[in-house]
Amino acid sequence: SGVVSSYSTSSAVDNPITPSIKVDYTQLLINGNFVDSASGKTFPTYDPRTGDVIAHVSEGDAEDIDRAVSAARKAFDEGPWPRMTAYERSEVLFRFADLLDKHTEELATLETWDNGKPYEQSAKIELPMISRVIRYYAGWADKVHGLTVPADGPYHVQTINEPIGVAGQIIPWNFPLIMFAWKVGPALACGCTIVLKSAEQTPLSALLAAKLLHEAGLPPGVLNVVSGFGRTAGAALSSHMAVDKLAFTGSSATGKIVLTSAANSNLKPVTLELGGKSPFIVCKDADVDKAVELAHFALFFNQGQCCCAGSRTYVHESVYDEFIEKAKTRALKRSVGDPFKAGIEQGPQVNRQPFLQCGRSHVKLIPMEMQCCHTDANAYLNQIDSTQFKKILGYIKSGVESGATLVTGGERLGNKGYYIQPTVFANVKEDMLIAQDEIFGPVQSILKFKDMDELIRRANQTRYGLAAGVFTNDLDTANTLTRALRVGTVWINCYDVFDASIPFGGYKMSGQGREKGVHCLSNYLQVKAVVTKLKNPAWM
Ligand code: NAD
Repeated sequence: SGVVSSYSTSSAVDNPITPSIKVDYTQLLINGNFVDSASGKTFPTYDPRTGDVIAHVSEGDAEDIDRAVSAARKAFDEGPWPRMTAYERSEVLFRFADLLDKHTEELATLETWDNGKPYEQSAKIELPMISRVIRYYAGWADKVHGLTVPADGPYHVQTINEPIGVAGQIIPWNFPLIMFAWKVGPALACGCTIVLKSAEQTPLSALLAAKLLHEAGLPPGVLNVVSGFGRTAGAALSSHMAVDKLAFTGSSATGKIVLTSAANSNLKPVTLELGGKSPFIVCKDADVDKAVELAHFALFFNQGQCCCAGSRTYVHESVYDEFIEKAKTRALKRSVGDPFKAGIEQGPQVNRQPFLQCGRSHVKLIPMEMQCCHTDANAYLNQIDSTQFKKILGYIKSGVESGATLVTGGERLGNKGYYIQPTVFANVKEDMLIAQDEIFGPVQSILKFKDMDELIRRANQTRYGLAAGVFTNDLDTANTLTRALRVGTVWINCYDVFDASIPFGGYKMSGQGREKGVHCLSNYLQVKAVVTKLKNPAWM
């Protein structure tokens, strides 16, 4: 098309800008104090722009989870947090939100440094979203209440909503601080205490945020943060007998493991926010330029590392060829480079470090069916090459081998760090791995459709059900698709709208339960029914 890409020279990713802050917090936060891990072990966290070590972080394992759970247990059973007035709890959360705003630059810098996402995205989109979530749940703290219930008999019946107790929370690396806020906001508003395990790829921002929460007045032991690996710290948390509830965000395969271990320990209730393979549907009446732009955003935002990425772009046959040409032009224009530079849309993928893999150097793709249906999910997890960078390049290779048309991209960018060219595939079919699996990278797969019934069947032909995008001006089309798609969120003529008030979660293997909004509160509450015998029947 004669378009010159914005990323065609490797200079875009050379000479990384040195972040302007120091990393102050690298230890575990237990009972209000930063402490070393019991084993004294640490692990490195890496700068995805270069692969250099940013800091060595205390590595929590089962013993540290035990210490953290004891602190949370004591804070719940004996401490002030669940006993103070709900209004006092909300004041702590409001003060925390103010501190998040005040420390935006520091938090956004840590987030970008550890994760690779554009700094402008961290500072201008994510941090405001995070303090908004905290304020939203601060507002809920004193509005959580029970009901008076009419009963058949001379009884006065009321329900009391009580905090569920000690919440174990496990979060992923793609939105470390947003995930932190979605988890701790509602749990704290409800009066719970928490042990949170951050993702091993991105442990830094949660430690600073937790420190600010203490500065806002959170009593010691209410929030404990343990950095560490999934199969040690994560497994210890999900199977802990003194944890009353588990909230997990991550892959569907790991979701199965934590659900099993919660069931096999103390049957703690579990909420799961898992993976997706969301359709983005461009209907025949669409303004193609606008549809291309939105479909591009739906997939490429955050380096394609979004659970709800619009990773199957369905385009009506009448606009298909024009759409492909314009999608290619848009991908070539995407500004890829050092995420600390102004105007950058795409930084590096999160990592290449082989943290928890079996040591193989080649990429072997395991179809989703096998990952999820095998009786021993752990055995399969052992075989998956967990390094995002290599995994994505492996999926690109598989797309080419399975006969999809590589329209643009497909290669590593530069020689340093984990940058990947924005990649577009056309002529993708449902049976290809790139149309089935969550690639979690900057790879757009475009499929053609003809009529509505066929589209609905194909769009639902996935084990996931997290989200969908619909691009149309036709109200009937929008209504039909809204009802027919088996997904937790439908975005019509928009995408990735995540206000604190909007519930988020998945159908099918994308999860159980909802986060955000009023729906999330019930995850952190128990309902107690109190039945009082009346001397006289009601009204007498
Ligand atoms: P992951 O499942 O590998 O890891 C997520 C978390 O689980 C990490 O903290 C990890 O240490 C921990 N973990 C790993 N093994 C564990 C075990 N055996 N026991 C307990 N904990 C364990 O996922 P990931 O690759 O870090 O994150 C990407 C995934 O998260 C994608 O599938 C994405 O779709 C999903 N995600 C979903 C949402 C959502 O809201 N639905 C949001 C963000 C990310």
